[in-house]
Amino acid sequence: MKEISLYIHIPFCKQKCLYCDFPSYGGKEDMMGEYTKALVKELESLPLDKKIKTIFIGGGTPSYLTLENLKILKEAIKGINKDKDIEFTVEINPGTIDEEKLSLFKEMGVNRISIGLQAWQNNLLRELGRIHNLEEFLITYEMCRKFDFNNINIDAMFGLPNQSMKDWVETLENVVKLNPENISCYSLIIEEGTPFYNKYEKGTLILPDEDTEREMYSYCINFLEKNGYKQYEISNFAKVDKECRHNLVYWNLSEYIGIGVGAHSYIEGLRYRHTENISEYIEKVNKGNNINLDIYENTIKDEIEEFMFMGLRKREGISIEEFNKRFKRDIYEVYGEILNKYLQLGLLIEEDGYIFLSIKGIQVSNSIMCEFIL
Ligand code: SF4
Repeated sequence: MKEISLYIHIPFCKQKCLYCDFPSYGGKEDMMGEYTKALVKELESLPLDKKIKTIFIGGGTPSYLTLENLKILKEAIKGINKDKDIEFTVEINPGTIDEEKLSLFKEMGVNRISIGLQAWQNNLLRELGRIHNLEEFLITYEMCRKFDFNNINIDAMFGLPNQSMKDWVETLENVVKLNPENISCYSLIIEEGTPFYNKYEKGTLILPDEDTEREMYSYCINFLEKNGYKQYEISNFAKVDKECRHNLVYWNLSEYIGIGVGAHSYIEGLRYRHTENISEYIEKVNKGNNINLDIYENTIKDEIEEFMFMGLRKREGISIEEFNKRFKRDIYEVYGEILNKYLQLGLLIEEDGYIFLSIKGIQVSNSIMCEFIL
């Protein structure tokens, strides 16, 4: 039976962080019940001829959903055709989780928890508009361990307003001391339409300069590697065999189904994108109408480009053999000029049948990736 991954989007947050442009909303708690019912309907319509190998409940803040709604979701997930070796992740945020919810996640079969920390310093957390402080994060982390979750990811961010190198080092050192299985380190991106964007436009957002940000990233790679975390993707570091299998599905251009508001799917060369409006989603699911904003059939050109962009995010890079097999063309015939240019500059490396970004290449990965547009 064909295997596939499943993403479930929970669009509710207690409060919107000032940098966030995800499809997530604060102050819509009254819609949780109806939304969960709609999710269940969508779950029930999943193809039965596929086995689910990973589930990722993301958001928003899945742990903000009420216990009652989480129980409804749990019942619906029970009915899914799951692989016995499934990786099942739930994203949680400190300040929205308690022992009852964690116990329910255990019963649900969740075996991986991803916690949003972002920074170790309470002043930086406040500046980001996070709802929690460090103490609440520590309580959350300990609670997860107490419930025997032995695969935990912690999200951290660098390049934050007023964040110094010292702050970042302190964040990394303390996160490593906690000994999570995976650490994700994202650089802050100022997204249009966010309060941070407006502040940035007005010149009132004080960000670390480019050199400091680059230093923060290099430090992070070296420090985490030294402490037993292997970088397996531009922003992700894990202990041996603890890489996030669900996220690897995206980077390997494998198939996945996304359900809920704003969710994306990629099945048999088609890309689907759901509406981002919660009321519209609920109404359309209930009426049995199409909830997709668009359905797009990837051309061969799209597939090749996506294979390169996504594959080069991984530290192992892309397999030359897989490219040639998948597209029935030699990679050097398609990208020879660009590959040779970056291989000579030392920004790309070819080794054992794989092409990947060098450490220097990772620092300028965005401009390298652009060149793979055909
Ligand atoms: S908790 Fe996450 S999804 Fe919610 S607003 Fe903050 S960053 Fe966005």
